[in-house]
Amino acid sequence: MSGPLSALDTLGRPVRNLRLSVTDRCNLRCAYCMPEEEYRWLPRSDILTFEEISTLVDAFTDVGVDRVRLTGGEPLLRRDLTQLVALLAAKPALRDIALTTNGILLAENARELRAAGLHRVTVSLDTLRPETFRALVRRDGLDQVLEGIREARAAGFRRIKIDTVLLRGTNDDEIVPLFEYARSVDAELRFIEYMDVGGATRWSMDQVVTRAQVLERLRAEYGMPVPIQDDGSAPAERFLLPDGSTFGIIASTTQPFCASCDRSRLTADGRWLTCLYAIDGHDLRAPLRAGATREELAARIRGTWSARTDRGAEERLAAHERGALVQVEDLRKNPHLEMHTRGG
Ligand code: SAM
Ligand code: SF4
Ligand code: SF4
Repeated sequence: MSGPLSALDTLGRPVRNLRLSVTDRCNLRCAYCMPEEEYRWLPRSDILTFEEISTLVDAFTDVGVDRVRLTGGEPLLRRDLTQLVALLAAKPALRDIALTTNGILLAENARELRAAGLHRVTVSLDTLRPETFRALVRRDGLDQVLEGIREARAAGFRRIKIDTVLLRGTNDDEIVPLFEYARSVDAELRFIEYMDVGGATRWSMDQVVTRAQVLERLRAEYGMPVPIQDDGSAPAERFLLPDGSTFGIIASTTQPFCASCDRSRLTADGRWLTCLYAIDGHDLRAPLRAGATREELAARIRGTWSARTDRGAEERLAAHERGALVQVEDLRKNPHLEMHTRGG
């Protein structure tokens, strides 16, 4: 439950989960996120320092945020990320501190992250075939990712999640092998529907492997998956198989969950987005650097959240002709529209 001070938006949704993007840069080029050859990066002087992030997080906790997830770009590219984890871990108002990573640099960082107080790790992994990995993310590194997952377990992380975006014709024949792999390393696999977010310039509905198709594939292999009732605000629906194993599906494209969405996103340069599909964000860096106090920042956040009406994915679902959300020329002009800037 959210605390008594929690801000509610116009649909009664509390502000609770904050995704903190710590860099817009990435060491992979996933086809569904960064398919272009060139990108325009945020200016370095705009990137928030750890102290600035910490002050903003304090203001967010004052209005009800109690869970943060570090993301990016690739968050492990941000130098000394463990220092930020330690700053966050010292905040009693935060009861969950998680990281989403592509896993490339996880093996060398897992122990320090754990020691600094990180609670949970989610690793994005879309394939177990080196050639598919190379085709999908346009870099080598599958072994590094698998080693990263091993090291995260060895470092003591429990409840590791593995996130898989399925693309028809690329990795949709790996539903069962990925599930078996995740189970073998005691991780929970979550299948994510390919979303038509900014950055996904090659998106088309016929490449989306839907929730229904994943359920059918797993049912054919293991028997009927049964929904698990838990935290109504979690993006993933979780399912239990007859053998006791579990998995999740994040069906943002065909069955959006905006009605219970308590998530917002802060970009590495301090733009606050109240919806993944929002065209504009709210600049929190300017007031912060102009000397706004924690209380003033909290009041600003509360005011914005109270007016929130976002239902981005539901509106996309209602769109008649669905294609990429933003065209590449517009992304070049405004990198804040990119998924790798928003943090996914
Ligand atoms: N680089 C890190 C990673 O890949 O885990 C963190 C940032 S990434 C933007 C966060 C998540 O967004 C990843 O799990 C990725 O698979 C997902 N993502 C990116 N583009 C997507 C798209 N078009 N549809 C669905 N998920 C997407
Ligand atoms: Fe892939 Fe994450 Fe990098 Fe996007 S930010 S290209 S999803 S690794
Ligand atoms: Fe939340 Fe926007 Fe995603 Fe809907 S589309 S679940 S409102 S972030």
